Amino acid sequence: MNADPTCIFCKIVAGQIPAKKAYEDEELLAFHDIHPWAPVHVLVIPKTHIATLADVGPEHDALLGRMLGLAPKLMRELGVTNGFRTLINTGPDGKQEVYHLHMHVMGGPRPWSKG
Ligand code: 5GP
Ligand code: ZN
Repeated sequence: MNADPTCIFCKIVAGQIPAKKAYEDEELLAFHDIHPWAPVHVLVIPKTHIATLADVGPEHDALLGRMLGLAPKLMRELGVTNGFRTLINTGPDGKQEVYHLHMHVMGGPRPWSKG
């Protein structure tokens, strides 16, 4: 497991910064976004530090599959029944703000504040 001591999401994984967790296992963590765009807005991250989606290799295929597969399960558990949006921002032109790979999963009744 890689960790970057300056990374805010690594600090959440380590329990050094609090977060409202929605799911956790050995390799994934999901927690509620601090500035939600939608009634339900969670971030799914690998516990290991990977800066961006552009940094993954074939060794991460299973991890990426598990991140995506978690989305519908999480939304069901959180009571989202009418669809949801999944989003990964990558790099400066992708408007990525936190450089630890994360997938936004957003759902709940509209209107949303963004997106
Ligand atoms: P990005 O633009 O990098 O795809 O999105 C980063 C997301 O992380 C933003 O939606 C932002 O609100 C969220 N975020 C940033 N810092 C924290 C934090 O300390 N805790 C939580 N729960 N969310 C955060
Ligand atoms: Zn990190």
